[in-house]
Amino acid sequence: MTTDLLHRGVKLLHDPMRNKGTAFTIEEREALGLRGLLPPRVLTQEEQVLRVMEILERKPNDLERYVELIGLQDRNESLFYRVVVDHIEQLMPIIYTPTVGQACQEFGHIFRRPRGMFITCEDKGRIAELLRHWPHEDVRIIVVTDGERILGLGDLGADGMGIPIGKLSLYTVCAGIHPAWCLPVTIDVGTNNTALRDDPLYIGLRQERVRGAEYDALITEFLDAAAEVFPDAIVQLEDFGNTNAFRLLAGHRNNYCLFDDDIQGTAAVVLAGLWSALRITGGTLADQRLLFLGAGEAGIGIGELVASALVAEGMPPDEARRRSWFFDSKGLVVKSRDRLAEHKIPFAHDHAGTSDFVEAVNMLRPTAIIGVSGVPRTFTQPVVEAMGQHNERPIVMALSNPTSKSECTARQAYQWTSGRAVFASGSPFDPVDHQGRTFIPGQGNNAYIFPGVGLGAIVSRASRITDEMFVAAARTLADEVSEDDLRLGRVYPSLERIRDVSARIALSVAEVTYRSGLEREPRPDDLPGAIRAAMFDPAYRPAITP
Ligand code: NAD
Repeated sequence: MTTDLLHRGVKLLHDPMRNKGTAFTIEEREALGLRGLLPPRVLTQEEQVLRVMEILERKPNDLERYVELIGLQDRNESLFYRVVVDHIEQLMPIIYTPTVGQACQEFGHIFRRPRGMFITCEDKGRIAELLRHWPHEDVRIIVVTDGERILGLGDLGADGMGIPIGKLSLYTVCAGIHPAWCLPVTIDVGTNNTALRDDPLYIGLRQERVRGAEYDALITEFLDAAAEVFPDAIVQLEDFGNTNAFRLLAGHRNNYCLFDDDIQGTAAVVLAGLWSALRITGGTLADQRLLFLGAGEAGIGIGELVASALVAEGMPPDEARRRSWFFDSKGLVVKSRDRLAEHKIPFAHDHAGTSDFVEAVNMLRPTAIIGVSGVPRTFTQPVVEAMGQHNERPIVMALSNPTSKSECTARQAYQWTSGRAVFASGSPFDPVDHQGRTFIPGQGNNAYIFPGVGLGAIVSRASRITDEMFVAAARTLADEVSEDDLRLGRVYPSLERIRDVSARIALSVAEVTYRSGLEREPRPDDLPGAIRAAMFDPAYRPAITP
């Protein structure tokens, strides 16, 4: 069969990268064997968008909207991206958190069509062969998970595939990474979620998780195979359990073009939020005392990146780490505690311990509390009130996802501090009216960071992804927050501006690539122009040359 036949007739309508559905023009229908296969009236993309929005409106809940949107993505990628880009505030919570969390919890039940690649421990020795089955050769970003720690929802095994799919959609929506450059991957090594294993519609291997040397060898084989088959691809590690995540990042970041979004992407978005918040509260990053509830991937990643930013300003590393304090499920992380996980040790300071979070707030008098525990309602009224007593403008970041896991709500943070809190969350909250003022809570969404970092690394053909790139991305993101945003209490720019913001982040990341000598191709004369040119535009292009 010739390529021509693939791009004609019914096959063309079934090719989501090329399909335009009822928007094929009369000339295109004539030339491409489509006449008779479509209803006669030609619609514009705008009219098709109207129809999609009407269909979404009629759906009874967000999960059904998610299913509808994924169906559209399977049929017509340009239209899917047009719809999401044009309604980003409304639809990002559906294609990503919080709805994607529910979609993963019910993945086997809403499954329609496979998307991305599934690699299992049974594929040992054959991973490169499998990757060659992928239909697109020029992959630039791979998002890979083993499903062990999906959002704050725990081990969802292969059903966690919704996350790599969703994150890659955000790469395209937010930074215009071409859909054909994106590859979602699940490495299925089993699941320890017994309810899932017993679910008759579970899509993954029904076995306990593989651990230890066998697991590590499988991941290394995957990274080697990905580098061999897709030499230009960046690998984003996503939602691995925390002991694996820290080990994999530390062990592989210098050997592959790889980063961990839960550790480094989160860190950059929170660092940006802190820099913006400081424009409201006054003071510098060096003056802050941050108290984290939760000492996992997100928390430790933030602590390390804040320290990197301070070290870059000239502070010694030990002193920089003393700006961050951690409180985990066993209490305040201090030097005298035994059997601390390795990633917590650099932040175990010499101080009296406590297992009471309010007491920790009163002892340390932090300028900011950052919730990354995955445990809801842990920023209680006494905690937030104590923050209000110690600070004129306390910074309260309740980052656990999805919304149901948030440490406190936006309304609570404003109410318990008489409107003085500078609040940000992980999942979106509606605007809050409090004593005649309207606050728009900022969402510390990683989508502000990773798409721009990816775009910058792609355009500069970076061979490694470094912490310096994430600090640069955070600085740029903070600089994009306007005085108007801050007046509304919002420490992040509006999502409506995300494509511009991502392009600017890409520029700052690419500058780091060149400064660090990590480029694999010479710098283009017009770097901002090269970044813009690399961004996929979901508008339809002519299917025939006139
Ligand atoms: P993780 O599993 O690596 O870490 C969770 C940490 O919380 C662990 O240190 C654990 O000991 C601690 N913890 C558990 N129960 C606790 C309790 N009752 N009190 C105090 N600490 C407790 O998970 P993670 O990757 O760090 O993610 C944590 C949360 O942060 C998740 O809900 C995730 O959705 C959220 N998160 C948000 C963003 C964002 O908003 N941009 C980004 C990443 C993660």
